[in-house]
Amino acid sequence: MTAAPRDPAASLDVVLPAFNEAANLPALFAQLRRVLSALTPRWRILLIDDGSGDDTAAVALGAIRAGLPLRYVRLSRNFGKEAALTAGLALADADRVVLMDADGQHAPELVAAMHQAWLGGADMACAVRSNRDEEGWVKRLGTRLFYRFVNAFTRLHIPPDAGDFRLLDRRVVQALNALPERNRFMKGLYAWVGYRTEFLPYKPRPRVGGRTHFSLGRLLQLAFTGVTAFSNLPLRIWSSLGGVIALVALGYGGWIAVEHLLYGHPIPGWPTVVVGLMFFSGVQLLSIGIIGEYVGRIFDEVKQRPVYLVAQDTGAPT
Ligand code: UDP
Ligand code: MG
Repeated sequence: MTAAPRDPAASLDVVLPAFNEAANLPALFAQLRRVLSALTPRWRILLIDDGSGDDTAAVALGAIRAGLPLRYVRLSRNFGKEAALTAGLALADADRVVLMDADGQHAPELVAAMHQAWLGGADMACAVRSNRDEEGWVKRLGTRLFYRFVNAFTRLHIPPDAGDFRLLDRRVVQALNALPERNRFMKGLYAWVGYRTEFLPYKPRPRVGGRTHFSLGRLLQLAFTGVTAFSNLPLRIWSSLGGVIALVALGYGGWIAVEHLLYGHPIPGWPTVVVGLMFFSGVQLLSIGIIGEYVGRIFDEVKQRPVYLVAQDTGAPT
């Protein structure tokens, strides 16, 4: 079966999650206007203001007054980038949706290449960074280990260098919107829904104004969400480890008994006990902690709280 040919003039929404990006928005708006107008007459920017405390709102409302096809949605507080993307995907109603950062690191020019990939039949066109030179070694190593781990122990393949900068066909957007989970690790979810994906290499530009919002702590938190949402392996490790430890303990106990009975060696005393006790309390606390990570997330899911709340929605189509 061949798919229906795609309409080059299909509508296109660009979702920009923004947290204190007022300084970067005007230049980005201008670039987007230039790039998008050349692609389709039916384009629109959907700015998700993730509880900014700067002039983001004023800049956006000014742009709307100046005639930019922009819809400004303000969340009721800062919910985080994954939640802002989730909001954008839920509110966008175009035939295809582009997700990109609002800080100018994602070059709007690449949207033209994504558009071509979509016309060629791709359901998802995804920008892949061709280098990570500008990142510190801690972040690079952490990222590598994280993707190694997730990809080794789940049936998904999450490409390590593909971020949130991508174009999604309507049906991919619908698939993502239908996922009910509250712990939203978007990079995993894109991989989970599947569909025909094309990868386009790009080099992220330096941030224009402000600085990154992702500290090491926040990245670690995201990594935990990613691991717990896509792998049960950390839970399973402990049952096998428990089995191995029990066997070792049994063997050691048997050995002491044999030594005592055959050679009359005295049974070794407190040092073994203390070391054993400390080691195994550590292992137990660690395993309880890991189980706790999962239980905490189950708790998040069963509470069924919304992922985000909208406080203001200006420029929505009527
Ligand atoms: N962002 C957001 N909410 C947050 C943190 C970040 O909407 O709580 C947005 C931010 O405004 C930017 C994008 O997510 O448009 C990427 O953030 P950032 O540039 O800080 O991340 P990095 O590029 O360093 O990974
Ligand atoms: Mg950035």
